[in-house]
Amino acid sequence: MGKLTRFVCRLVTALACISIALASASAEDAAPALRVATRLVPPLVQRDGDHLTGFSIDLWNALAGRLGAKTDFIEMPDVASLLDAVHAGKADVGIAAISITADRDKVFDFSQPMLSSGLQILVRGKADQGAPNPLQGFMRLTLSPMILVWLGVAAILIVIPAHIVWALERRAPNGIVPDARYFPGIFHALWWAAGTLATQADQMPRQWLARVVAILWMFTGVIFVAYYTAQLTAALTVEQIQGDINGPDDLPGKRVATTRASTAASFLREQHARVQEFETVDAAYQALLGSTADAVVFDAPVLLYFAGHDGKGRVQTAGSVFRKEDYGIVFAEGSPLRKRVDRALLELRENGTYARLYQKWFGPS
Ligand code: GLU
Repeated sequence: MGKLTRFVCRLVTALACISIALASASAEDAAPALRVATRLVPPLVQRDGDHLTGFSIDLWNALAGRLGAKTDFIEMPDVASLLDAVHAGKADVGIAAISITADRDKVFDFSQPMLSSGLQILVRGKADQGAPNPLQGFMRLTLSPMILVWLGVAAILIVIPAHIVWALERRAPNGIVPDARYFPGIFHALWWAAGTLATQADQMPRQWLARVVAILWMFTGVIFVAYYTAQLTAALTVEQIQGDINGPDDLPGKRVATTRASTAASFLREQHARVQEFETVDAAYQALLGSTADAVVFDAPVLLYFAGHDGKGRVQTAGSVFRKEDYGIVFAEGSPLRKRVDRALLELRENGTYARLYQKWFGPS
């Protein structure tokens, strides 16, 4: 073969390669963008001006880059509608903070785990909790209905012996009632009865029957004070215990905020907590700050983000992750996309992109 023929052959091969490359590039341009359902869950998905950012969004963009696909993000209000969109074929794929669960796995295909997560508890910081503040606790007890009952009982326990002692003592010389008339004699008797009830009697009646009544009333006073102290201590202890949420066992009966249709919401219902379900994690967090909720139960990476940013010094996690969950990218069952995304995810782990993104969103700032 002559030189010229070889040259022509190479030229033809090169032209063929270029035209194939151009054809495939234009085919890619023409390929419809992947519809990706997502929802705002900082720091996995958050808004930055008019575009979305966050760990899940960065990860998806890197995956889409490897797949050579364009993306149209579709924002959904909650995880249930996100899953519905994928199920109904309105989205090709879903990515946010979607926990892989057995129930969801029956209906959907998941990618391999893209981030490990789990449920954790967020509470107000100690300074904001209220119960350990002694002045607040004292005021609450002082103004409680229980105090009114005790004051009523005390009033009866003062008025009755005061009248008995007044009637017996008013004629006794140097007795505790210096005046035989009802007024002002009864005031002295009331003062004596109140002092005796509070175990602070400073005077004793002269008349023998009045003394018997006085001794009986002194014992009544001791019992009254002991019983009252016990009740007050019990009320204070209960109040302090109720203020403390240290783990999932403390959740039953508490007002706990989370997001609608989340894995946390179903867990809380099983726990018989008083669940408050919100559309956004931010709304659940605001309920905690505003004290209309006692705790937020949600995914650890999200709670840690709130505790480390807006909630710094105001909220804190209580206990560690008590139920492990993994996040996955969700596809309709049988989607051919899953295998490609899984492979791309492995490649991103192997080439260091995944580690860089993890560091960017979850590493020390
Ligand atoms: N990990 C939660 C779930 O999949 C997130 C819920 C949410 O996005 O509100 O249920």
